[in-house]
Amino acid sequence: MQTTQSPAIAEMQNGNRRTIPNINPATMELIADVPVFTSQEVDELVKRARRAFKDWSGLSLKQRAKILKKLQKLIVARKDEIAHTVCEETGKTEMDGILEVFTVSEHLNYFRKKGPKYLKPEKRSTGVFLWKAAYTNFQPRGVVGVISPWNYPFILTAGPVLQALMAGNTVIVKPSEVTPATTLKLKELALEAGIPDDVLLVATGDGSTGGALVEHPDTDMICFTGSTATGRKIGEICGRMLKPSILELGGKDPMVVFADANLERAVNAAIWGGYSNSGQTCISVERVLVESSIHDKFAQMVADKLKETKQGFRQDFPSLGSMTFEKQVGIVQEHLEDAKQKGAHLMLEGGRHDDFDGLFMKPALVTEVTSDMKVWKDETFGPVIALQKFNTEEEAIDLANSTAYGLNASVWTKNGKKARRVARSIISGAICINDVDANYIMSDLPFGGVKESGIGRVYGKEGLRAFTNMQSVLRDRLGLKKELWWFPYSQGTQKLFRKVINTLFG
Ligand code: NAD
Repeated sequence: MQTTQSPAIAEMQNGNRRTIPNINPATMELIADVPVFTSQEVDELVKRARRAFKDWSGLSLKQRAKILKKLQKLIVARKDEIAHTVCEETGKTEMDGILEVFTVSEHLNYFRKKGPKYLKPEKRSTGVFLWKAAYTNFQPRGVVGVISPWNYPFILTAGPVLQALMAGNTVIVKPSEVTPATTLKLKELALEAGIPDDVLLVATGDGSTGGALVEHPDTDMICFTGSTATGRKIGEICGRMLKPSILELGGKDPMVVFADANLERAVNAAIWGGYSNSGQTCISVERVLVESSIHDKFAQMVADKLKETKQGFRQDFPSLGSMTFEKQVGIVQEHLEDAKQKGAHLMLEGGRHDDFDGLFMKPALVTEVTSDMKVWKDETFGPVIALQKFNTEEEAIDLANSTAYGLNASVWTKNGKKARRVARSIISGAICINDVDANYIMSDLPFGGVKESGIGRVYGKEGLRAFTNMQSVLRDRLGLKKELWWFPYSQGTQKLFRKVINTLFG
């Protein structure tokens, strides 16, 4: 068995500790055994991060932006190394690995350029109180715990981490036990860029390590990205502790295709949106709603194009890599089996791919779907698209909204008015019109879910500010002896206020 070890991992492997194997799912080669941090070790990290907070938060916004610029340059220079690390532990195609680096670079470029503007004190109106001044401060929260999943190990770790750092927090990251190497690579680059060791710390491990970070009385905020089930547990703990949290959770995104859509573009979008990264994307297209008159043509076009899609790892520029997580393969198979039993038609059957040793699955296309099927209501998180027909706009909206999730969505029509109307009626954190998933790379657009897809936003002005405590400041400008509403009260001032109410607001 071939073993490729990152220096950061090798350094950590001393002593007799519980470890988890990090495996390349496309080849089943062992990459490394990675330690599971205990709650005592998490406690030590929190103490280190707490001590480092004063100096890091004491830097000006411009100073922190300058350090992040160095990190950006390093990420660009070492893009292939990062993409390689991502691909080795996820089984992604090289292109999907490069797209992770591209996305992080775009986001980082935004955080460091816009951070100083959006995080500096912001003037606010004082309404009728013309003799006052008001503004808001954005104070860093303190020690932020970031817990990330395995499906985009670079984007979903670097995104929250870099926003938190820009805002002046120190950070402890708990990467997924399935994909820790990419986070250790980020740590390596951050150190080289001049981010002090204790400002960004990594606690590898599983749910027990993540739990220790959440439960720790001295972590000031948790930013969690992962499943709705885990997010619910974390939300409950944070609620009990009154600890601020951002929860970026699962999705079951609908794509609504009207008969007047640009069909070729919609078909290509369904294929990329549904099957890239083997469908293991929180904003993956999982449900496609197609107007009845074009349903059969649409389905056939998707099936024909998918048959030509190259699958593989490392060689020949495949479009589809392997699955990342063995458990997910089981969930996908269960959903397909459930659909078959309930009478769906598997236009493309999907299932395990026998040509490979690793966790490869063939793309599946399911039609004749009903809303009680798992492929329609539960997150599949695999290379599967489920199709349903609709006849009216209202029916399409009802079907789109018929799950517990509300992360992303898309609507496809050449009628701009209809597109905007439908977009407003679909309950989701974001929606694309004649596009798919591209909102995620628009750094100025906040990202996050509604319903069971989560709480809070990352990216954009709102995302950067989510990693801060907003402090409202009011300053008196005149220095009068006393305000009209201070003691002692009198009949005269009471009368005056009655008059003022009538004059100003009547
Ligand atoms: P998961 O919930 O199993 O694990 C996510 C992380 O939480 C891992 O690091 C894990 O070790 C940790 N964890 C597990 N139990 C914990 C606990 N009790 N306390 C603290 N931490 C704990 O999710 P996953 O399988 O890694 O990721 C896939 C899921 O993530 C999918 O549902 C997907 O939709 C979702 N996701 C959401 C977004 C988004 O931005 N909304 C992005 C990507 C993935």
